[in-house]
Amino acid sequence: MSFKLPELDYAYNALEPHIDARTMEIHHTKHHQAYVNKLNDAISGTSLEGKSLEDIMSNISSASAGVRNNGGGHFNHSLFWKVLSPNGGGEPEGELKDAINSAFGSFENFKDQFSNAAATRFGSGWAWLVKTNSGLVITSTPNQDNPLMDVAEVQGTPILGLDVWEHAYYLHYQNRRPDYINAFFNVINWKEVASRL
Ligand code: MN
Repeated sequence: MSFKLPELDYAYNALEPHIDARTMEIHHTKHHQAYVNKLNDAISGTSLEGKSLEDIMSNISSASAGVRNNGGGHFNHSLFWKVLSPNGGGEPEGELKDAINSAFGSFENFKDQFSNAAATRFGSGWAWLVKTNSGLVITSTPNQDNPLMDVAEVQGTPILGLDVWEHAYYLHYQNRRPDYINAFFNVINWKEVASRL
């Protein structure tokens, strides 16, 4: 029983021009693969072996730094690939649209606040849209932390995540993180996000 790198539902070049093929390939085959390998090494022979990723996240405060960094890395990237689509973009519909309007007033307000969370996360980390007991909330986390972790400032179920580590955009966007954030909105798979609500 060990964790495995998930396959993508689309080709590496499918998200161009918003996210380039080389970045996608390195991100998936090198970065994500490394998190999977190091997570498997970190839990091998421990009481965490055989547990689900969600179970591991919920008690991450008692785990090693290796499990926290690489378990978070595996969870976060697995979600990230799913909420991207070459047929993405636009705005959510139905229940998700209502939940976003209820929490943020409008889609434009949501986009501004999410983009701001992503742009102002200092150093490496993630921006999140999180389902909590009190509705949808925007937050960000450092490194490979996420809102499923019992150490997170805002805890809940992440339904949308954006990787703002430099490895996610530097080849194409260099220091222009805001341009990458803007491009991300053209490839968000809102149907997938809605299915996680
Ligand atoms: Mn990444």
